[in-house]
Amino acid sequence: PYDVLVIGGGPAGAAAAIYAARKGIRTGIAAERFGGQVLDTMAIENFISLRHTEGPQLAASLEAHVKDYDVDVMNLQRAQKLVPGIDHVSVELANGATLRSKTVILSTGARWRQMGVPGEDQYRNKGVAYCPHCDGPLFKGKRVAVIGGGNSGVEAAIDLANIVSHVTLIEFDGKLRADDVLQRKLRSLPNVDVLLNARTSEVLGDGKKVTGLVYENRIAGQRHTLSLDGIFVQIGLLPNTEWLKGTVELSSRGEIVVDHHGQTSVPGVFAAGDCTTVPYKQIVIAVGEGAKASLSAFDHLMRTSAP
Ligand code: FAD
Repeated sequence: PYDVLVIGGGPAGAAAAIYAARKGIRTGIAAERFGGQVLDTMAIENFISLRHTEGPQLAASLEAHVKDYDVDVMNLQRAQKLVPGIDHVSVELANGATLRSKTVILSTGARWRQMGVPGEDQYRNKGVAYCPHCDGPLFKGKRVAVIGGGNSGVEAAIDLANIVSHVTLIEFDGKLRADDVLQRKLRSLPNVDVLLNARTSEVLGDGKKVTGLVYENRIAGQRHTLSLDGIFVQIGLLPNTEWLKGTVELSSRGEIVVDHHGQTSVPGVFAAGDCTTVPYKQIVIAVGEGAKASLSAFDHLMRTSAP
């Protein structure tokens, strides 16, 4: 069996694997798609000390850095079941194999919920964005829309209003669902419009980038077009934890509940990054949390394993 088995090969998993291997213990990493969400990103300008990089380049560096160490890298492997045991934890893969390890670090990340309308995929990273902390500054002085009137949508609209020239917040329902204090702040801003009962039906572009969107007023039934440079979709972040239901404690949003050490509800099982309850889903945070979970796993091994 492994000493440390990491599930997930994004920034959190890569950091966890490197920290474990540096302790000279048997380390494996299984990932459905090595690189994770970083592969879907273009400009990255907030990974501190790297002034600018692109997602595929950072993903390749993560993988190369892991491969500098003695780590079993199992790419294109999806975990589908976690089975806690007395002195080891088993992880069943979709290909039928079972991996065993004294400790496991879960770092399966998350995915943004998409609108599922024409043009959204085509203009992803070409005006369609999901992360205001990441991509907000790219739209300085421009016109954007935020889709979704929950807390994350309203927070995004307030945040973006400081950077961009104009924000249109689009909510499907007849009212916003965000906390009152956020709604009051939003309505006090001069460069924000709120559209209620509005269903976005299409992302428009010129072949290279976003030029606007089409929405339908659900009450009047009329269709309208907005001219825009960017669209921030804020209708939910879904943790990749469906396969852990019933074994590891999850929050109401499906995030793995961890303590300050990255420990989950199952002894010997740790977690890090976007799949956990740790707030703010960012690369630099995922990397730090991965390192922390790995050091916690090592500490657990020191206390529980025979030398
Ligand atoms: P992920 O990157 O999601 O990696 C999860 C890993 O787990 C993947 O390897 C995946 O294949 C694997 N996996 C999932 N389920 C399973 C399973 N069942 N079995 C095995 N493997 C599994 N952050 C920034 O800091 N700056 C930015 O500029 C930025 N831009 C972004 C742009 C876009 C378009 C997106 C989508 C995100 C962006 N982010 C940015 C957020 C950032 O990418 C994430 O916070 C970060 O990647 C989280 O790392 P992670 O390791 O926790 O998870």
